[in-house]
Amino acid sequence: MPVEPRRNLVRRLRPFAETIFAEMSALAVAHDAINLGQGFPDTDGPAAMLDAARAAIADGHNQYPPGIGVPELRQAISEQQSRDYGLSYDPDTEVLVTVGATEAIAGSVLGLVEPGREVIMIEPYYDSYAATVALAGAVRRTVPLVSDTRPDGGAGFRLDLDALRAAFGPDTAAILVNTPHNPTGTALTDDELAEIARLCVEHDVVAIADEVYEHLLFGGLTHRPLATFDGMRERTLRISSAAKTFNVTGWKVGWVCGPPELVAAARGAKQYLSYVGSGPFQPAVALALRTEAAWVRSMAGDLEQAQVALSAALADAGFGVHHTDGTYFVLADPRPLGYHDGAAMCRGLPAQIGVAAVPVSAFTDHPHWDHLVRFAFSKRPEVIAEAARRLRSL
Ligand SMILES: *Cc1c(COP(=O)(O)O)cnc(C)c1O
Repeated sequence: MPVEPRRNLVRRLRPFAETIFAEMSALAVAHDAINLGQGFPDTDGPAAMLDAARAAIADGHNQYPPGIGVPELRQAISEQQSRDYGLSYDPDTEVLVTVGATEAIAGSVLGLVEPGREVIMIEPYYDSYAATVALAGAVRRTVPLVSDTRPDGGAGFRLDLDALRAAFGPDTAAILVNTPHNPTGTALTDDELAEIARLCVEHDVVAIADEVYEHLLFGGLTHRPLATFDGMRERTLRISSAAKTFNVTGWKVGWVCGPPELVAAARGAKQYLSYVGSGPFQPAVALALRTEAAWVRSMAGDLEQAQVALSAALADAGFGVHHTDGTYFVLADPRPLGYHDGAAMCRGLPAQIGVAAVPVSAFTDHPHWDHLVRFAFSKRPEVIAEAARRLRSL
């Protein structure tokens, strides 16, 4: 008998009971399809980092690490931000290691947002944001990305700044900002980030900046953290993770950096979520942050090639293809092919051509996104080539 996932689940989590990711992954398995639905890489991280994790286990680093994370990892996180962005964080009071970026987000929201207060997020939003805000008993308030024509004539997205300004009010406790952005692959521009910063300062709002794709930008773009904008260092919790930086989504090593009061609040919740996490992986990630910048650049270059190849195949197949600044994802519009419902298309695609994707409706509240489909290109070149061949057969 199939399990009814909502039966015993608390009311505030019921809207999130079934995820389309699980459904699409099951369809991918059933039809032996190439799974471009869930966003994870299919190659390993840097060899020296993997060796360091094995060595840490062999050397007995298998008990509870310190609550804020092992000192060498906190030090390495602090050094990386100073090296890459000129941001300085005290590794003892301004850096917290978490069980992935997911727990960094949950700890930040649960530790900082009182029930009933509002959290602004950009729509489409990463799926954990809405569920986490619901767990906190808080209210989500979405600000949409809207279609935009890029200088090269391609279709992209920009933030609706009027909607952003209208979203800030007396009940706003925090804004969750994800850039580079999942699922659209959009990197917010400096002007957009400056306006977010101005509003946060004006309304005394905390920013929770999910920057897990900070190193995965294409076309010569560089990442500028929200915390580097005027007035933001003291009101931003900046989140990143080893998952997307070093191809280890299964390790669950993330971190959050910010002023001591905000980090302490996130830690106040984190210590009762997981207490600590990822003991033997922490020294390995510290090593990688210190020594594997060239590996990360090369991996980002490979991703860009995969993006170009997959986007070309989607265009040849007849999709409207959106511009991607970075991340693992490209959005495709199947309306030129006669599909007006992305979810229906995704349910048919594995059986039809042996490719799985996810509908953007999994990341939204409003129906005007429902036609779009997200494809992940974080796969080996031969996998992308085969997916491209299958897509062209549509
Ligand atoms: C993958 C992802 C995360 C989760 O990262 P983990 O370190 O695996 O928990 C958070 N935010 C976004 C936008 C992501 O794409």
